[in-house]
Amino acid sequence: MEQAQWHKLSAEEVFESLSSSQAGLTTEEASSRIAQFGKNALPDSQQKSIWLLFFQQFTDLMIVILLCAAIISGVIGELIDSIVIMIILALNAMMGTFQEYRAQQALSALKHLAAPNANIWRDGKLCSVSSELLVPGDVVHLEQGNIVPADLRVVSVEGLKVDESSLTGESIPVDKQIDALTAATVSLGDKSNLVFKNTNVVKGKCLAVVVETGINTEVGKIANLLQNKQETKTPLQIRLMRFSRYLAAAVLIICLIVLVAGVLQGQPLLLMFLTAVSLAVAAIPEALPAVITISLALGARNLFKQHALVRNLPAVETLGSVTYICTDKTGTLTQNKMSVSTLYTENTFFEQLPQTSVELGQALALCNNVIYQQQKGFGEATELALFELALKSGFDKKLLEETMPRTAAIEFDSKRKLMTTLHPSSSGYVAYVKGAPERVIERCVDAHTNELPSPFCVQSLLEQVDNLSAQGLRVLAIAKRDFSQLPDSITTESVETDLQFLGLVGLIDPLRPEVPQAVKDCVSAGIIPVMITGDHQGTALAIARQLNIAQQQSEILSGEQLAQLSQQQLIDKVTEIRLYSRVSPEQKLNIVAALQQNHQFVAMTGDGVNDAPALQRADIGIAMGKKGTDVARGASDMVLLDDDFSTIVRSVQAGRRIFDNIRKFIKYTMSSNSGEIWTLFLAPLLGLPIPLLPIHILWINLVTDGLPGLAFSAEKAERNIMQRPPRPVQENIFAHGMWQHILWVGLLVGGLCITVLAWDISAGNSYWQTSVFTVLVFAQLFHSIGVRSEIDSIFSIGLMSNKPMVYAVSITVLLQLAVIYIPSLNDIFHTQPLPIETLLICVLVSSVVLWAVEIEKYLIRKFDIYNNS
Ligand code: ATP
Repeated sequence: MEQAQWHKLSAEEVFESLSSSQAGLTTEEASSRIAQFGKNALPDSQQKSIWLLFFQQFTDLMIVILLCAAIISGVIGELIDSIVIMIILALNAMMGTFQEYRAQQALSALKHLAAPNANIWRDGKLCSVSSELLVPGDVVHLEQGNIVPADLRVVSVEGLKVDESSLTGESIPVDKQIDALTAATVSLGDKSNLVFKNTNVVKGKCLAVVVETGINTEVGKIANLLQNKQETKTPLQIRLMRFSRYLAAAVLIICLIVLVAGVLQGQPLLLMFLTAVSLAVAAIPEALPAVITISLALGARNLFKQHALVRNLPAVETLGSVTYICTDKTGTLTQNKMSVSTLYTENTFFEQLPQTSVELGQALALCNNVIYQQQKGFGEATELALFELALKSGFDKKLLEETMPRTAAIEFDSKRKLMTTLHPSSSGYVAYVKGAPERVIERCVDAHTNELPSPFCVQSLLEQVDNLSAQGLRVLAIAKRDFSQLPDSITTESVETDLQFLGLVGLIDPLRPEVPQAVKDCVSAGIIPVMITGDHQGTALAIARQLNIAQQQSEILSGEQLAQLSQQQLIDKVTEIRLYSRVSPEQKLNIVAALQQNHQFVAMTGDGVNDAPALQRADIGIAMGKKGTDVARGASDMVLLDDDFSTIVRSVQAGRRIFDNIRKFIKYTMSSNSGEIWTLFLAPLLGLPIPLLPIHILWINLVTDGLPGLAFSAEKAERNIMQRPPRPVQENIFAHGMWQHILWVGLLVGGLCITVLAWDISAGNSYWQTSVFTVLVFAQLFHSIGVRSEIDSIFSIGLMSNKPMVYAVSITVLLQLAVIYIPSLNDIFHTQPLPIETLLICVLVSSVVLWAVEIEKYLIRKFDIYNNS
């Protein structure tokens, strides 16, 4: 079938050519088609083969120079040296490949997890499957908030509007219809009977059959063109890459000095050249950006285990910087398990629906979208509670709908805050309306006079609403309107006016049990929680008070008051407000923008289609996994799989930990490099021989340093992680004592090595090179143990509390002992077995680094010397 012609076929012809029907495909047929057409996924442009990853490890200029130098020295005669250098480089490349491959796998796994589900007809039943498993011929049910999962031909439609801006650039949502198109050429934007993958359903619903999947879809064709688009770097990576460039320049100058000093001392030129290049390879932290990706990807995998799905990797890095969490109420702070606690009708409160309130019972049963299947209701929590109350009192939706089927409806939207359904009745038609009390009451008329109700009645009703809300109940008002015949147009003006009031319902929605503690943690971590809700002010305030989010009237703003403020006025006021009630989704965008103007770093939750702009604008947009729409999820940086506020707080904590561990890794490797540079730089200046051979430098940096470095990602959170203020995103990673640490530890290690060197030489020990080599390796190991915590002593956090670190350090010790004591390795590494007392002295001398770092941490704890808290 010619691909572009689907729009010219009638729905029946499409079904026929795809051998499908309204009832969808069978599971068997679908699996044979998936074998034929492949998965409905766009090509993963960032997947690299393991070989490509391996060879990419050798594209670094310094490594290339080193390889060339090794080859030259091999040709000249130092064959073993040259082979060993190559083996070390290969080992290092293997380690790098393994890590990057793991990161890539973790990222791609996350991507697959993020793929939304689609509601389709399979084996004659409506079910939800991963969009990736759709095949041509599948029949998909789409509704407001869905992202279109493939290219589909629409076969039945109810007020469908689709935002195709991502594909056509047209920002106004387009209407869809089911008829075949006859024009000879039709542009993409005019194919009104097709919907396209990755566009958004903003209104209505439809049934549509899949015609193209994966790379054959319109967006797939574009994705194919863009295959090689650049990977995105996180802000920290960009800053570090810039920093690396400056550092490289400085290191190259130092290497040049070492080279010249060595040659002047009479060392062979080739040896000194290799030494200088090895030092450059060792000291330039070119692997840092890759290490960051790895930490973030692995961090994202851990976050997933804690029910937070990261869609945008830099979010992991910046989560810890959040200063404001703007959260929904229903379902996030509360359980979204509603039940009716009280009912107000005919001037009286009831716990159960009185049998006499027939109209109210019918309204509760009929004015909702609950589906009743196998003795169980399925639907949105508020509606379910009303439906169940009606059912318990004998108003069975299913039975009622036999005589009063739904003829028309105006669906709920969170701006209007009303919902209406129309049904045939004894007097013609009846419209049942439910919604936010003030919205319903302002549309009511007096039942007897059909005129506006007396202000007194309205006032007393609103007072009842306030009383119920003050108890934390969500209040809905119910009303009706009779029509002798069905109105011509079903609009809010023609139907949701001149209503007759039927009653109020107060619903209870308990708090999630973990939330009070999460709010406390949030506050002690310097993060301000703000509630933004569509609910009534009284209800919201009652809950905010229970949680200590807001107490005073001055901390509250309603949607109405918000609408009166200019953006500048909002900017001036926004940091005082803790609770926004009756807010429409559009207003969320203004709140985020105002907070950002105040230099705040904002996390914001959202679930509806209209929340997408605010989610995109927020520094961390958080969509709900359960309650949220595909569109909200598509616009977010992170999806809360359990919709739970405490998951946000836990993610912030995890983000801080990941960032801390990246910092520790940087601190560790750069101090190690600094130690080697000082040793190699100072020795010739002090008239001592070059203390290390190129093989030693490479061995330390590319093998022994690497293992403990990797283990930092397993380090547990610092004790004070949620008691310190958020770190500003722009803050220099070397702040809070890091650069000072790198400098002094480097000098100390350099000093220790040179002391051992000088002592060995003066004592006439032939193994001086091995001693320095050993001191350097052990000093790094002691250092890695010391910097596991930024503040606490290793003895209080426990030597064994990071198992991977224990293994890494043990393996490194064994490797080093092997290099010193195994005779065949002695030849290769130019080492000599150290007498046991010398080995012990080396270990003791190296341990000075650990004690010194412990003293630094003591000063941090006692005097906060680096302004950490
Ligand atoms: P939050 O923003 O805290 O999650 P919410 O999502 O419950 O609150 P909305 O769904 O926008 O906020 O609801 C706002 C108001 O609309 C509710 O307080 C209620 O009065 C009314 N409402 C909610 N659901 C329905 C519904 N299905 N039909 C009619 N009215 C509703």
